[in-house]
Amino acid sequence: MQIEPQSFDRVLSSMCTAPHPVAREAAERFLATNPGDPGTYPNVAALEKDAIATLGEIAGLEDPSGYVASGGTEANIQAIRIARDRAETRTPNVVMPESGHFSFQKAADVLGVELRIVPTDDDFRADLEAVRSCVDAETAMVVGVAGTTEYGRVDPIPELGEIARSVGALLHVDAAWGGFVLPFTDHEWHFGHAAVDTMAIDPHKMGQAAVPAGGLLVRSDHLLDELAVDTPYLESTSQATLTGTRSGAGVASAVAAMDELWPDGYRQQYVRSQHNAEWLADALEKRGYDVVDPTLPLVAADLPRSTFDALRDEGWRISRTGTGELRVVCMPHVTREMLASFIGDLDRLEVR
Ligand code: PLP
Repeated sequence: MQIEPQSFDRVLSSMCTAPHPVAREAAERFLATNPGDPGTYPNVAALEKDAIATLGEIAGLEDPSGYVASGGTEANIQAIRIARDRAETRTPNVVMPESGHFSFQKAADVLGVELRIVPTDDDFRADLEAVRSCVDAETAMVVGVAGTTEYGRVDPIPELGEIARSVGALLHVDAAWGGFVLPFTDHEWHFGHAAVDTMAIDPHKMGQAAVPAGGLLVRSDHLLDELAVDTPYLESTSQATLTGTRSGAGVASAVAAMDELWPDGYRQQYVRSQHNAEWLADALEKRGYDVVDPTLPLVAADLPRSTFDALRDEGWRISRTGTGELRVVCMPHVTREMLASFIGDLDRLEVR
């Protein structure tokens, strides 16, 4: 095979990163295992319990329940499935800020749930008044995002929880990207801070595990039971996951990365990434671009389309927000040297 995997040298837009060496090694060792069949592969099933215990600790959940999913998309779909199945209505709706990830569109489509999208405020966070006026007796779930995909914003999670409770709905927090950096900030985002019922938190993003390793956490076992189906031909009796066969590599690499890095390694990485984001924001601002203040390690800035295209032609893997701003995610593989080289190219291109 001639095709090489993508090098991370110029990747500034991805929410995935190079796996930590211990995660890579663990993934390789568990490549041929399937946590979806715990009767046959008990070792990886035991590892998955460790993964959920640590994810629970990170997310402030005392008695965690959940599983290692294929990613944030699956975790979000499953969270909505739980809410839909326990709602006492045939026409349930889910209320989400416009900053929510596009996976919720898929979830709504697949599950036949109405997705009500409400505006965000001037700081790109869920507008609480808009959420309040959108929920009703048929709202099955309110979604809050803790680390939005475009601007890295954290919604007011406790207040969203209160609104959800007021109509008997569940609160889901999408911390798929933010979950591994938020413990080191002052943001109120986790199960301990608010009436959170379900959460997406992905080891394969800021957690530095190999792909695929997402995380679905639920407040209690009975919520996970909503998803369980009987499994007649397996030794285990039921399965709550969306996919059947799953990646043991993802599970093992998540455990290895978290054992190695939680909490000190993740804290150091957060500090590095946040400093890089602030350095980049500053460099862009000094050059006269409008920059969205990076409250988490993600920078958005208003670059002309022609400059953006020229930078992509130079090989920079960058992306744009829905409204066209440059978006740079300061993942663990993004170093200060990379960012300095990026700014160097920007200066050169702008002079031409
Ligand atoms: N939620 C958020 C906040 C995300 O940023 C993403 C992807 O970047 C997802 C969910 C979807 O995750 P995945 O691509 O792992 O399914």
